[in-house]
Amino acid sequence: MQQLLIDTIRIDSLKNMYQPYNVEVDILRLDEIHPVISGNKWFKLKEYLLEAEREGEKNILTFGGAWSNHILATAAACNLTNFNSIGIIRGEKAQNLSATLEDVLKLKMKLFFTERSSYAQKKVPEEVWHQYKQEETYIIPEGGYGLAGCSGAYDIGNYYSKKYSHVITACGTGTTFAGLVKAATNNEKLIGISVLKNHLGLTTDINQLLPLYLQNQFTIMNDFHFGGYAKITKELISFMNSYYLQTSIPTDIVYTGKMFYAVDQLIKINHLPANSQILIIHTGGLQGNRSLPKGTLIF
Ligand SMILES: *Cc1c(COP(=O)(O)O)cnc(C)c1O
Repeated sequence: MQQLLIDTIRIDSLKNMYQPYNVEVDILRLDEIHPVISGNKWFKLKEYLLEAEREGEKNILTFGGAWSNHILATAAACNLTNFNSIGIIRGEKAQNLSATLEDVLKLKMKLFFTERSSYAQKKVPEEVWHQYKQEETYIIPEGGYGLAGCSGAYDIGNYYSKKYSHVITACGTGTTFAGLVKAATNNEKLIGISVLKNHLGLTTDINQLLPLYLQNQFTIMNDFHFGGYAKITKELISFMNSYYLQTSIPTDIVYTGKMFYAVDQLIKINHLPANSQILIIHTGGLQGNRSLPKGTLIF
């Protein structure tokens, strides 16, 4: 199977911004590894694709919404690795497809739209099996949640040194975070910023991907969701714009904008104490910003 070859991933340092708090802040730029398969998504997908190849499958099927980074990354990764890709999309087909879905069509993903209730149950519409053989189809869970996703995300740990006191990332399913927990040394504190509201099962979901001795050896913050998954506020947008002005780092509205905001707050209230060496994982997702009216963001 063809792989994305990633030699190094850039680490940026925020030199001056947090000097008054006497903390060092570095950013692992996963957002820059590939123009389409951005951020954490290649890491989460690659072990699933290897498993599908070992099993001799021809098709990869997965689930997501109209602006899903996971759907786009799956379409691009399948295009690279010569699998047929099938996307089960939440909600009725809109008259104008999202820019994300336009992109996935160009990457030859076949789309099937399902109403929200059957989507919630992760039903595969019957018509899929009229077009594809079930026994040749490998299903990747929504968001790439699962053990294979976690072991792929573990490899992100190879791209930074073990000097950090804190490693911080945004959590949707928590799969990426679980991989980072596995990759951590004893001196690293892992902090996950949940982007969902009232997703109190997140800790359990993460624990399920971890061996017993690593369970609950991490912190999840639940207060930075800005109203819920993919919800935005003026405060979030103005934070993202001013952060970009200060750091030249673009962030996305669903995950990393909220996470960078959280880190900023946690430093300013000294929750991340003086002398901390903080690594922020920039998990990408910038393409989703195309759902905003033009001019909302300055980058
Ligand atoms: C998917 C995604 C996440 C969440 O990853 P999980 O492994 O589901 O927790 C975080 N950031 C970005 C930009 C993403 O696209």
